[in-house]
Amino acid sequence: MATFDNIISRLADIKAIENLSDKEIALLSAPKRVKYAELDVDGKKYPAWRILFNDALGAGKGGIRFHPDVCEDEVKSLSFWMAVKNSLAGLPYGGAKGGVKFDPKTTDKATMEKISRAYIDEFYTVLGQDVDIPAPDVYTNAQIMGWMLDEFEKKVGHHEPGMITGKPIELGGSILRGDATARGGYMVIKEMSQTILGTNQGLKVSIQGFGNAGLNIAAMLAADGFKITAVSDSKGGVYNEAGLDIAQLVAVKTRGGAVQELESAQKITNEELLELPVDIMVLAALENQITVANASRVQARCIVELANGPIDYAADKVLFEKKIMVVPDILANSGGVIVSYFEWCQNRTGNIVDNDYLSELLVKKMKSAWQEVYNKYQEKNGQADLRLAAYIIALNRILAAEKYRGQI
Ligand code: GLU
Repeated sequence: MATFDNIISRLADIKAIENLSDKEIALLSAPKRVKYAELDVDGKKYPAWRILFNDALGAGKGGIRFHPDVCEDEVKSLSFWMAVKNSLAGLPYGGAKGGVKFDPKTTDKATMEKISRAYIDEFYTVLGQDVDIPAPDVYTNAQIMGWMLDEFEKKVGHHEPGMITGKPIELGGSILRGDATARGGYMVIKEMSQTILGTNQGLKVSIQGFGNAGLNIAAMLAADGFKITAVSDSKGGVYNEAGLDIAQLVAVKTRGGAVQELESAQKITNEELLELPVDIMVLAALENQITVANASRVQARCIVELANGPIDYAADKVLFEKKIMVVPDILANSGGVIVSYFEWCQNRTGNIVDNDYLSELLVKKMKSAWQEVYNKYQEKNGQADLRLAAYIIALNRILAAEKYRGQI
């Protein structure tokens, strides 16, 4: 089943709950612009996409992913999720996403730079601070944003730091951007666990994925007294009922190692991690990790989606039946794009805004987004899980903008 089919199924649920018209659903079911190119680097071809899903609320916004499994269905789904994420966060952005299909883990730095520049050479006409604004995603980082900015500015002949976010600080990036996705997720966990589990102290947590988001949230939760009993990366996982030594795991990862190199822990598979009994499971890897194949065996009391799309449509229904609360991606991982927005605002105005103030603003935005989604969930009284509640808020905002524009 294609990932985008899950989105179509969720839209059908929302159509029934919100009484939406066929025309409204049609508008929400297809991207506005799909750009595809084969990047030619040193005689090798790299399939690449930039997809703008919707821009009723503002310019497109969303990251660029480098991964061997990137395909149009994935980029399209990710661009839809950015549209709803940005809308839910109240940002003046539409949704977009990009990707290049190749394995960055086996690619040298010089080639990475050429691919990054070739991406901009192909797509710069549909990018820009008021058109569509990329950022990092899976296996892309500040250095890659730096090369892309440089290439874009060469192409257009003027400075325009607001055309991309997640940049190095020296090129107009924000010091808060590095761990912003994790920080936002951590705030949501604090709010959610107090409301749903009645406490936010000493809870047992498992984390699938130990990249930027997974690693940083593990450190934040451990520092706050949460007990991280299991983590995994693409090579496998580790488990310790008494709690893992997160500082040591961070050190292993920082020197390029895998989490299974940690001694004093039992080795487990990624599949086993997903079925452990914990209070909170954080999914911080890739799409479609919980499906009908394993949803019935999930024992976590709550799940927090720090990755985009880790639970598919059919699994949502199984988890809802099992009364397992799922905090959806578009809420839980929105800290990243919220800080991207802060970066973009500063690039556009040339103003320097105090980082303590922005940190507080991020906390405020995350807390109020959680409350808004939870209120909608309660208002829907069993008709919608947290995901559908979040989608309802976000999609109604996009539809309202489309109506004011006279599109529907
Ligand atoms: N790639 C991140 C996401 O999926 C951040 C996007 C951005 O900052 O524009 O939310």
